Amino acid sequence: MTARVIDGVALSARIREEVALRAAALTAQGVRPGLAVILVGIDPASQVYVRNKVAACEKAGLHSVMEQYPATMTQQELLERVHALNADPAIHGILVQLPLPKHMDPHQVIEAIAAQKDVDGFHVSNAGLLMTGKPLFRPCTPYGVMKMLEAENVPLRGAVAVIIGASNIVGKPMALLLQSAGATVTICNSKTRDLAWHTRHADIVVVATGRPRMVDGSMLKPGAVVIDVGINRTAEGKLCGDVDYESAREVASAITPVPGGVGPMTIAMLLVNTIEAAERTLAARQH
Ligand code: NDP
Repeated sequence: MTARVIDGVALSARIREEVALRAAALTAQGVRPGLAVILVGIDPASQVYVRNKVAACEKAGLHSVMEQYPATMTQQELLERVHALNADPAIHGILVQLPLPKHMDPHQVIEAIAAQKDVDGFHVSNAGLLMTGKPLFRPCTPYGVMKMLEAENVPLRGAVAVIIGASNIVGKPMALLLQSAGATVTICNSKTRDLAWHTRHADIVVVATGRPRMVDGSMLKPGAVVIDVGINRTAEGKLCGDVDYESAREVASAITPVPGGVGPMTIAMLLVNTIEAAERTLAARQH
């Protein structure tokens, strides 16, 4: 079997077209959706992510503000910027790019973002809403994965899903979204014994560990759907995922590539979350 390739570039382009239509409709009603992205420091990967996010916003007709500060910025100064953006009616979404410099506490910074502008969905109240089945914002990467599974008509009700990686930004929210959709979910981490035993029982495997090519075809059930969230750089400077693509695609029924899989979906869902925030602002204004 050679797996179908789940094309995140094509699907994200379709989603961004829908976003552009919704942005135009909002703008026509006097609410131009606005996203503020804050970057502290000069981490090269973060600079690329932030630039891509801002460029995607502009292409879809959203208002975007990019604020870039030196790594010497104090946490208090950053909190003041966040508070100012919380109060800015032109801004519906605020994103602080992680990781932050070591002298800052990312939890305190994320908690300072107004929950209704927390388009990353990382604020504790948004995590709590997701956990209790009433999400306001779904974290962008798992949200994008759900859109991919939906677009591929992957049955989720009753499916066995194994997620490798338990971070707050990918693994845990991914588990909650799959569970809400009716899947039976196992979350594995670095202490999991016999990881392959888990993955070989799974209809859906989502890998988000940051360990290059750690899952290969021998660990998969024939016909499994494989979602590779990982973004790693090889010694030769090429991008690769957490899945060994060549061996996995011989066993899986569908697989996401890296690059061109989950990455572009994450950005598309950030735009969707910003639109949803702006739509809620308009709805509140009309009531
Ligand atoms: P974190 O480092 O926060 O978490 C990694 C998780 O993987 C932890 O739960 C860790 O376990 C687990 N893990 C590490 N090694 C193993 C192992 N050998 N076996 C099983 N589990 C293991 O990573 P993130 O969730 O932030 O990111 C994961 C990957 O996804 C990275 O490559 C990142 O670049 C990528 N990413 C991609 C995005 C996209 O848009 N495509 C967006 C966000 C992230 P433990 O809890 O025990 O430490």
